[in-house]
Amino acid sequence: MSQFFEQKLTAIPGLRPQWADLLLAELEIGTIGELIQYYPFRYIDKTRILKLQDLYAMHPDEVSEVQVRGRLNRIAEAGSEKARRLTALLTDESGTAVELTWFRSIDTLKRNLRPGMDYIAFGKPESFNGRYSFVHPDMEVVNPSAKPPSYLMPVYNTSEKMKKRWLDSKALVKLMQTLLKMAHQHIAETLPEDLCTRLNLVPKRRAMIAIHFPANEILLEQARARLKFEELFFLQLKILREKEGQHTASAGFIFGKLSLLTDFYKHHLPFSLTGAQKRVIREIHTDCSSGKQMNRLLQGDVGSGKTIVAFISMLMAIDNGRQACLMAPTEILAGQHFNGLQKLAAPMGLSIAKLTGSTKKKDRDVLHKNLQSGDLNILIGTHALLEDKVQFQSLGLCVIDEQHRFGVEQRSKLWKKNPDIPPHVLVMTATPIPRTLAMTLYGDLDLSVIDELPPGRKSIRTVHRRDSDRLSLFGFMRGEIAKGRQVYVVYPLIEESEAMDYKDLMDGYESIVREFPMPDYLVSIVHGRMKPADKDIEMDRFVKGVTHIMVATTVIEVGVDVPNASVMVIESAEKFGLSQLHQLRGRVGRGAEQSYCILMTGDKLGNDSRTRISTMCATNDGFEIADVDLKLRGPGDLSGTRQSGITELQIADLSKDGAIVQASHKEALQILAADPYFEQPENAPIRMHIDSLHNRQTNWSRIS
Ligand code: ADP
Ligand code: MG
Repeated sequence: MSQFFEQKLTAIPGLRPQWADLLLAELEIGTIGELIQYYPFRYIDKTRILKLQDLYAMHPDEVSEVQVRGRLNRIAEAGSEKARRLTALLTDESGTAVELTWFRSIDTLKRNLRPGMDYIAFGKPESFNGRYSFVHPDMEVVNPSAKPPSYLMPVYNTSEKMKKRWLDSKALVKLMQTLLKMAHQHIAETLPEDLCTRLNLVPKRRAMIAIHFPANEILLEQARARLKFEELFFLQLKILREKEGQHTASAGFIFGKLSLLTDFYKHHLPFSLTGAQKRVIREIHTDCSSGKQMNRLLQGDVGSGKTIVAFISMLMAIDNGRQACLMAPTEILAGQHFNGLQKLAAPMGLSIAKLTGSTKKKDRDVLHKNLQSGDLNILIGTHALLEDKVQFQSLGLCVIDEQHRFGVEQRSKLWKKNPDIPPHVLVMTATPIPRTLAMTLYGDLDLSVIDELPPGRKSIRTVHRRDSDRLSLFGFMRGEIAKGRQVYVVYPLIEESEAMDYKDLMDGYESIVREFPMPDYLVSIVHGRMKPADKDIEMDRFVKGVTHIMVATTVIEVGVDVPNASVMVIESAEKFGLSQLHQLRGRVGRGAEQSYCILMTGDKLGNDSRTRISTMCATNDGFEIADVDLKLRGPGDLSGTRQSGITELQIADLSKDGAIVQASHKEALQILAADPYFEQPENAPIRMHIDSLHNRQTNWSRIS
């Protein structure tokens, strides 16, 4: 790609300097390379003219922007001053008519509109008293000798500010036409010819023209497919190369000895592992004996049993003279991991410690010493692990829980704890990510999935209830508590309205205490404004079964494990996102009892909320839920996507283009394997494109 696309917007004839400023300020478009990649967000079908009778046959709600054709007559002016308007009728052969109205540019229109001529009017008609009426339609005289125009008209997103200064979609259409005329011969091919032929991808130049000005739907689809593929293909190349770089750059410890593991399997295994757990452990073992550093993402729904997998991986490290650590996002979660892992570690004579922000200085000093001498085998903690003072004798494995709360830099900070050979890294997440997204988002990590729950779990029953059902809800809670179970009641906490949310929480707490009075019932409350120590005390009371009900904000979302809690009531459930609802629900259903999740909402629900609630009631499958979530929100909002650059995809949509992600992944792998530096002549387009990405200040496709 030449320097051509580096030029400022003012290089386009007819582009006013103020517009250049506006495009930069409103859309961050500064060069013509960026403008040409500003794709229409939809198209208007100019190939279709709706018969007026068909228009009247439609329900007003179904009518969007349409073209109609008829003879213009009865042009008349009405009102005065500000209420001045121009009206006319458009009548077709069948005698059916629509009304046309303009409030602006009346004098110009009066001069130009010619009664008795045939026109095509374009706009979104509204229905008034049984008659359709167009306000400010676009008018085009029908030229009987010319073929009627037949193309899809692009519509570009523009801001209010832009529209005010006449830089609306129509103005952009004109600019694009000029730009494409001057630019099209500079658009270089970026993909090998053979690949395009094999995958039926149209040439880049043709795609760029057709994405703005498609002659019909088929050509538009071809252009889209080509540009989406290209975008995802170069993203895959980038991710795969980074990953490859990591693998070749980092040698890894070889964990060959497995006697501890055998001992554990023979004498200490608390339950038999599920098939999925076994498979994942094999995958981890293969990595840890390959001589390369492991970077693996372990995905498993809440309750799928990731902890024991982490522990077994730790055993591999310890058996081979190394240490292991686990980092969790919160103090509560670190504590819980510590308790769980200690139960497994102690019988095997392994030493394990916990380090968090609240660890006392005295304890810290001891801990630091034992860590450096190698006396400590396993360290569990929070961000505190990242501090420079925390030095291991030899760190062989890092387990990171709940990945999305840690950034990539934090991950790499942990690796650096070992100067020569970086530790193996196992990232665990309970946020199910659809495979296509995982492949793109965590392309630098290998993926393991626990897709099977331990046996004997009863699936959680989820129901939707309204405020009017509250009395029966309380009755139900009483019944479950009488059976010896415990109940969570969770309130949303949304930052913008924090004060109000706290009021809701406290009101809710009070009404629960009224309904469930002492001494028969004990109620805990935990929220973000409490001191960590108080929080821990309350949490502890609930964990130990002292209190019956836990009223909380989403602080419990990250993973307390109370098998006896079998009811999860989520208040204002419509305010939660799907994955959050799923995480919360995962807090119950950990014991042998039938568990319940009750989603409380107000009476009125928007479409998306209704979909979220009904999805929750319909399935317990985290991946299914993640798929719906992705469709509702788009990938940009999913946790972790922000730092990855995926939100910057310009045309591909990870929630819809799974097949293209897969195809681009496959092709990228093949090409990298055969010709990693793109030295073959057929791969020259790829190399040139990547070079131009690197040299460019403005981003040709914003992925470099
Ligand atoms: P998560 O994946 O959410 O971290 P945990 O590791 O906390 O799940 O496991 C959830 C519960 O299931 C724990 O109480 C654990 O002891 C139990 N568990 C894990 N694996 C099995 C298994 N194979 N058979 C029976 N129970 C299991
Ligand atoms: Mg867990």
